[in-house]
Amino acid sequence: MSKSIELLVKLHNPKCVSAETAGRGGKSLLYKEQIVFAFAQAEKEFMFGYHLLMCKYRQDPFSREFVNSYAESWCEECGLPEHATEALSYVVDMVCDLPLPSQLKHLNSLRKRYLRSQYAHLSVIDKANKIAEENGLLPNSVEARQLRIRELNEIRKSNVCPRCRGTGEVGRVQKRECPECRGKGKLRANIIHLMKSIDCTEAYFNRYLNALVVDFERHCYEEMSGAENVIKRQIKNESLN
Ligand SMILES: [Zn+2]
Repeated sequence: MSKSIELLVKLHNPKCVSAETAGRGGKSLLYKEQIVFAFAQAEKEFMFGYHLLMCKYRQDPFSREFVNSYAESWCEECGLPEHATEALSYVVDMVCDLPLPSQLKHLNSLRKRYLRSQYAHLSVIDKANKIAEENGLLPNSVEARQLRIRELNEIRKSNVCPRCRGTGEVGRVQKRECPECRGKGKLRANIIHLMKSIDCTEAYFNRYLNALVVDFERHCYEEMSGAENVIKRQIKNESLN
């Protein structure tokens, strides 16, 4: 498995180098320091994007607070139409792959149906352990434990498709496209879900909120890719895609 920004953010606490992994030879220490520095640089250049990454991949509550107040000041600049703050907070959820309220009923029924068995969670833990091993983490290290928690939370709380558990495929012997997510692995919210979640009419949404939502969403993605590019540039690791 090649290292992605997602994995890098999940595996490394940007704020500190743990003694556990830092003590394993000069090379890994250097690498760790490089990562910490790369995160710090991303925060400096694309602060909003950096915090979005921390929300998306680490479920970091401090970063979520930052992102929420950023969204609030964005609304204030636009003259605060009714439901605006709420709408933008749901845009953040969408960008971070969190389900919207209007999706929960459907998601919960899928979870009940496909995630009830112990086996469903075991396979998620297996996957997390495999990633940890491939990245040279000890099974009982803080990072490996947090990775397991993060992977489980993703299944329980994010928009990961409960039927295929994010793989996009179903069937044990003969694989076929998952009919619930149509092979995407996620149940992404759309504008209709957003409208239903803030409980406003389509006419109101189109008149007062649509432009705001579209602009803010674009801004979120630009900031996130800005932060990702800084991290990539700083780490200069060929395996980083
Ligand atoms: Zn699926």
